[in-house]
Amino acid sequence: MTADALNSLDTPYEELLDGVLRDTSQIIADQRAEIEALKKELKSRKKRASNMDCAICGNKIQPTSYGWDEGNNAEPVVMDGRCCNVCDMTVVLPARLELAGFEGAEARAIGQEFGRTIGKLLGSVINLEGSR
Ligand SMILES: [Zn+2]
Repeated sequence: MTADALNSLDTPYEELLDGVLRDTSQIIADQRAEIEALKKELKSRKKRASNMDCAICGNKIQPTSYGWDEGNNAEPVVMDGRCCNVCDMTVVLPARLELAGFEGAEARAIGQEFGRTIGKLLGSVINLEGSR
């Protein structure tokens, strides 16, 4: 907006700018409050021990580093069940591959290879987190 255009406005532009500043400050305050609420939620999720047992092996489902503690969808092995990461990779994934048309041994081999790769990746991430 040019100075002439600003001068021709009914509302003095200082007032307009004050209004913009107020609106912007409110948006920032709202965003800050939202971020603080999310941080609190994340902290409480990390503290909360999972109460869920794996529907396949029966072990407690461990929360992830980012606070997710409800495990994985265990279908088609257990309908409406949740499972741990180990069972997800070694039991559920091969079962899904079999459903997708892979032969049992082939599905298990792909599942195991996938599990090993993910296991290595998770190990690296856990080591990185541990070294912080
Ligand atoms: Zn399990």
